[in-house]
Amino acid sequence: MSESTTESRNDESDRAAEGEEEPLLSLKNIEVHFKQGGLLQRVLGEEAVRAVDDVSLDIYENDVIALVGESGCGKTTLGKTAIGLQRPTGGTVEFRGEDFWEVPEEERSELRRALQIIHQDPAGALNPNRTVRSTLAEPLKRWNPDMGPGERESQINELLERVGMTPAHDYATRYPHQLSGGEQQRVALGRALLMEPDIILADEAVSALDVSLRIEMMDLLLELQDFVDTSYVFISHDLANARYLAEKSDGRIGVMYLGNLVEIGSVDQILKNPQHPYTKVMLWSTPVLNPDIAEKTANQAPPVRQIDVPDPADPPSGCPFQTRCPEAREVCAQQDPDRTETEDGHEVACFRQEPDHDYWQSPPLEEPQPGEAVEGTTQN
Ligand code: SF4
Repeated sequence: MSESTTESRNDESDRAAEGEEEPLLSLKNIEVHFKQGGLLQRVLGEEAVRAVDDVSLDIYENDVIALVGESGCGKTTLGKTAIGLQRPTGGTVEFRGEDFWEVPEEERSELRRALQIIHQDPAGALNPNRTVRSTLAEPLKRWNPDMGPGERESQINELLERVGMTPAHDYATRYPHQLSGGEQQRVALGRALLMEPDIILADEAVSALDVSLRIEMMDLLLELQDFVDTSYVFISHDLANARYLAEKSDGRIGVMYLGNLVEIGSVDQILKNPQHPYTKVMLWSTPVLNPDIAEKTANQAPPVRQIDVPDPADPPSGCPFQTRCPEAREVCAQQDPDRTETEDGHEVACFRQEPDHDYWQSPPLEEPQPGEAVEGTTQN
């Protein structure tokens, strides 16, 4: 019997079984393939980089989903696709039941107001020549042109206090270079909140902060969630950050590998009952998150067959993790697993979830010999 709770409001099966609310945003079979290189490569028809490959995901009102995975796994591209900053090359993005890319352009710009982003580098996102007041006044003028200067001023002051920048009248007159990194990130968050967004993409938004400020910022994000009724898509390469935010909000963690969403579930499901071999690798590399696993694997080599991450322009055949997976069998190099539901109600893309799958009769994949090229694996 698994230790995982079945009580989380974010269990995939619970939502379906209870016929919960319609998703706020529905990503269906999203593909984002980039043509790479210069003209010659394009003319020669070289393979595209598969940044996101057939990912489906629903996001609900007041939801929190933390997407984790190593650099280049497609989590930022997927997040940007969710908020309309990246047009997918395949699949659909439905926001409040409408196909985002099919609505007229004027309507789409209104939808964009509801889909905001805060970046890892707030300094780069703030105009160095604008005071905090001017930065925050701009969206109010644009989206609320009837608002008078007095009301605008009081909204800005109230917002600064909400994001912990007091005295507000003092911070309002400062320029970005007169703020710390944490304060700049608060201004960026405040500017996003002024749009009254339905979804905020926080793209590595706490990664550049030191640990105590990171916690403060994540607490602030959650505190403000109730104030503006927003959902967060939180992108992080750090499973510990994802755990903190998702655990405090009863949210979900989604694990991405090579453009695929390979496992998704509540914090308990992912941390205490990981099913995908790649999720186990992530946990192995973040021992503080699961001391039981850490103790068992303390002196063991990483649970992968290959260290090299495959080239997304030339991904492996079959399961994207087969070149590194310690559980891989020959069938894994021929077929790509769909996400299926686990016993405890979360979802994972691995044949080992399917008791009747050919996987169980298939012979193990042979270990690659030193120096031997493996299909789809970057050779340095
Ligand atoms: S399908 Fe095969 S290669 Fe892929 S994660 Fe499962 S066992 Fe590993």
